[in-house]
Amino acid sequence: MPDDTDEIAIVGGGPAGLAAAEVLAQAGRAVTVYERMPSVARKLLIAGRGGLNITHSEGRADFLARYHPQGYLDAAVAAFPPDALRAWCADLGEPTFVGSSGRVFPRSFKASPLLRAWLGRLDRLGVRIRTRHRLTAIDGGLRFEAPDGPLAIAPRAVLLALGGASWPRLGSDGRWVPVLEGLGVAVTPLRPANAGFAVAWSDLFRERFAGTPLKRVALACDGSAVRGEAVITETGLEGGAVYALSRSLRAAIAARGGARLVVDLRPDLTRDALASRLSGARPGDSAATRLRKAAGLPPVAAGLLREAAGAALPTDPEILAGLIKAAPLTLTASAPIERAISTAGGVRLDALDGRSMLRSRPGLFLAGEMLDWEAPTGGYLLQGAFAGGRAAAAGILDWLGETGG
Ligand SMILES: Cc1cc2nc3c(=O)[nH]c(=O)nc-3n(C[C@H](O)[C@H](O)[C@H](O)COP(=O)(O)OP(=O)(O)OC[C@H]3O[C@@H](n4cnc5c(N)ncnc54)[C@H](O)[C@@H]3O)c2cc1C
Repeated sequence: MPDDTDEIAIVGGGPAGLAAAEVLAQAGRAVTVYERMPSVARKLLIAGRGGLNITHSEGRADFLARYHPQGYLDAAVAAFPPDALRAWCADLGEPTFVGSSGRVFPRSFKASPLLRAWLGRLDRLGVRIRTRHRLTAIDGGLRFEAPDGPLAIAPRAVLLALGGASWPRLGSDGRWVPVLEGLGVAVTPLRPANAGFAVAWSDLFRERFAGTPLKRVALACDGSAVRGEAVITETGLEGGAVYALSRSLRAAIAARGGARLVVDLRPDLTRDALASRLSGARPGDSAATRLRKAAGLPPVAAGLLREAAGAALPTDPEILAGLIKAAPLTLTASAPIERAISTAGGVRLDALDGRSMLRSRPGLFLAGEMLDWEAPTGGYLLQGAFAGGRAAAAGILDWLGETGG
């Protein structure tokens, strides 16, 4: 039997859930956040280790084009755009700045002061946070495993913001999937997004270059291309440019069992310019010297070229230049979801109405990474979680108003 009279329950204390709690409490609603971990927002704190890239400064159209599927988050981001998120940070005492790549970070480069100030604000607004409460079932209400034993509540409205399944030790473990499927909600299988990929490196290359960044390269797969940086790992490749292509790479692996990633090791030079530099090399120079001096390749790029060639490097300058501009690698698998930055898949968007409410379950709203949208790294994930959480809160207020609450 329900033993709690919360008006609105938010399950999941990540950025999406807490953003919704703030909007609802500011509107005068009684809100309780239920979180399975001993503290909230652990993934936000981990994002702080990388400087907390909270959003991106690029223009609205380019910004929105980063999300897949396009369109779903447009209204939410229009209502709470990157500038509003930056103003919100500043208001909490953490002003932001735009880095050279256009990415936005708090000046402190940390998440903990921002989270501390935010939790202080939520506390002053009367938001109750109940940690160590794990949602286990949804029937007439919600059922939790809690420190004092099982708990059942029947709030007027519920927002689930349970996250995806990457880095499960931080709390989001995807165990909500069978709970929602049991209600007849369609869920696209959770898959790794913004993850590394496996490449069968030679022992020599792996031993020498694992951990080495591959800077200023261009990567392409099946018509998608991106410039940036990648990092050689023991098992393959990771880093921003790889993550940005992860949707295409994942699709190629699913369709063909492997993805062909084409690496341009000198994207700033044309093939002809490279060929002419290579032809001008001293005849007695070794291949390594030619690659370093004439093509300007660091040892890791020269090593990768040898991995791609699979045999001795071509001596003909034209052919070698072609290989430097398009070194093919075969990616055999994505890294496991446990090691991915984010999650693709989730509750299908067509299960929701325009207010983020499940069509089949009035009063049950969803937001954040547990939904079937994805975006590359660059601040888009957090912006999507904040904006989506706030939009769901607006949906709840709208619905409560309409249903006489
Ligand atoms: C290492 C790393 C670095 C990142 N860096 C960045 C970055 O710099 N910029 C960026 O934009 N994004 C970054 N991200 C991604 C970003 O952190 C997430 O996209 C974002 O936190 C998603 O917010 P959310 O609220 O939807 O889910 P989450 O933050 O995952 O929160 C969901 C919450 O629900 C709780 N929960 C789950 N199941 C239950 C249950 N059954 N009962 C109760 N509670 C439950 C979880 O414990 C968790 O606290 C990073 C992610 C990782 C892993």
